[in-house]
Amino acid sequence: MKLYVATHNAHKIREIGEILAGWEIVPDDPEGVEENAPDFIGNALIKVRVIAARHRGDWCMADDSGLEVKALDGAPGVRSARYAGEPSNTPNNNALLLKNLVGVSDRTANFTCAIALVAPDGTEHTVEGKCFGHIAETPSGAAGFGYDPLFVPDGHAKSFADLTAEEKNAISHRGRALAEVRQLLGTDK
Ligand code: IMP
Repeated sequence: MKLYVATHNAHKIREIGEILAGWEIVPDDPEGVEENAPDFIGNALIKVRVIAARHRGDWCMADDSGLEVKALDGAPGVRSARYAGEPSNTPNNNALLLKNLVGVSDRTANFTCAIALVAPDGTEHTVEGKCFGHIAETPSGAAGFGYDPLFVPDGHAKSFADLTAEEKNAISHRGRALAEVRQLLGTDK
């Protein structure tokens, strides 16, 4: 069965496909929509409503995610993709994060992933997954995307970018949120 997903991010599509095995993941980018909600759930709802209007009678899903750093009062937060400005630029975002944490000893951080789903009957559902850890002093690893080389999850000595896809999915914010989505989708596939 089809699951329309409101993103153009190939990394996210791959992670979603790995976790929701058996579903036909169909990307549909709600291009141009303004993600101006104050929180992740609000932005996920904005995006999923746009694509749900185009695919009535099918499951639709949107995620909104980001990194929250305690010493930076939760920044980059909902601005994670554009922390260093427009357009989104991962090396610049990561460099700015390290710069803003120079001399900071409490580097506690967490990723959050909010997912909004619209069922074929139009019912809306929301779930949220978190992964706690800290920001490393230097980047490490080549896998993953975004802030992965800088984020060391609790219980690991390696960054997200040093983990295999399976290891990351098992503990990540997106993996946790998608595990709940799998329950919601049930045997509908
Ligand atoms: P979104 O597409 O609006 O959800 O943007 C989320 C942004 O948060 C991404 O562009 C990344 O910078 C960051 N992000 C979210 N999830 C992850 C992850 O699993 N690893 C690394 N960075 C992430």
